[in-house]
Amino acid sequence: MKNTTLVNHPPAVAIPTDNRPLVAPIFQSVKFSFDDTNETLRYQRGERDGFFYSRTSNPTLTQLQRLLSQLQGRDDCLLTGSGVATIAASLLALCKAGDHVLLFIESYGPTRYIVQHLLAKYGVTHTMLSIEDLSGIEKLLKEKPTRLVIFESPTNPITKIADIEHLTANARAAGCLTVMDNTFAGFHNHGGYDVDVYLHSLTKYASGHGDVMGGAIIARHELIAAMRKDIGPMGPALDPHAAFLIQRGMRTYFLRYERQCANALAVSEFLLKCPQVKRVHYPGLPGHPQHMLARRQMKDFGTVVSLELDGGYTEGGRFAESLELFSIAASVGSTESLVMPPQLLHGGTYTAEQRSMSLVGKGTVRLSIGLEDEQDLKDDLAQALKQAFG
Ligand SMILES: *Cc1c(COP(=O)(O)O)cnc(C)c1O
Repeated sequence: MKNTTLVNHPPAVAIPTDNRPLVAPIFQSVKFSFDDTNETLRYQRGERDGFFYSRTSNPTLTQLQRLLSQLQGRDDCLLTGSGVATIAASLLALCKAGDHVLLFIESYGPTRYIVQHLLAKYGVTHTMLSIEDLSGIEKLLKEKPTRLVIFESPTNPITKIADIEHLTANARAAGCLTVMDNTFAGFHNHGGYDVDVYLHSLTKYASGHGDVMGGAIIARHELIAAMRKDIGPMGPALDPHAAFLIQRGMRTYFLRYERQCANALAVSEFLLKCPQVKRVHYPGLPGHPQHMLARRQMKDFGTVVSLELDGGYTEGGRFAESLELFSIAASVGSTESLVMPPQLLHGGTYTAEQRSMSLVGKGTVRLSIGLEDEQDLKDDLAQALKQAFG
């Protein structure tokens, strides 16, 4: 065998079955082969276990799927290359022309785009209500046949809390599926509710370090199997190396989330006392309009704190730029703290009425709280508020 051949057929190392690595290896291989054609055919007919092509399945991904579905309390999971891919792929797989979808003014921007523009191109209609409009939700689900409702809790950036029991009970009674983007609350929250499909951006708390993207759709097996048929050929697969990094991030998921929540509560309590701040949005504050609902539904209150400055774009921009420990950047759930000034939150595609219901104003600032020392964060916020209004 010549070396040019050898480099394409490298020697394999087999590990004995009673000898395991403590950290699962990355199966960075697109293809897997069987000994012969017959075994390959048996695999394709679903008569034996194994792997064939990584767009469809890969052992590194399977391990992450099992971990995440267990944490969320369901029995199956499908991984994608980003969080938004879970939204687009699941909605395309679950809806057909003529279906009707319920979404919310407070929904994540790309979710609204996908429903209002992408699904609309394929003949799916929608209604957009406020997540706080419980009687409107009840009335709509009773009166209008609806394929699915897609919602979040806490919402971004105002941290409104969806009444999950009310939503799922009304949807169930109407034969409507519930899809919950559970990115903000995490895998340890909301699993006990009668939600059909959970979506997560793994880019946030799962990977945790702001260096890798991914998404997970978690649901009961039959639903995932049905979606897999449609989503497989769309090809949004997660790369095994990204799955490995996300799995590594998950080892410290609880520690990070817990510490970030503790910091978020401390920061929100501190901001309440600042005269330049008109209002603080954080579900862990007793003054949050849905604090009791959040207490009932969640084990903690999340890591995102938003505030209303007693000012507008000018003060908001100056505040964000004066912060030293918070970078002006998108995303949440990283180890470092981040800030979004009002210029980057306000606006969008709302009507005036929707905008006012969203509660995002010209003085709204979103903070994503990281793992820094609590006092350092408070000191930084204090000096930036002083500069913004100085
Ligand atoms: C970030 C985010 C997404 C999208 O995730 P990406 O991994 O950035 O594509 C979806 N939903 C929510 C609630 C998010 O915060």
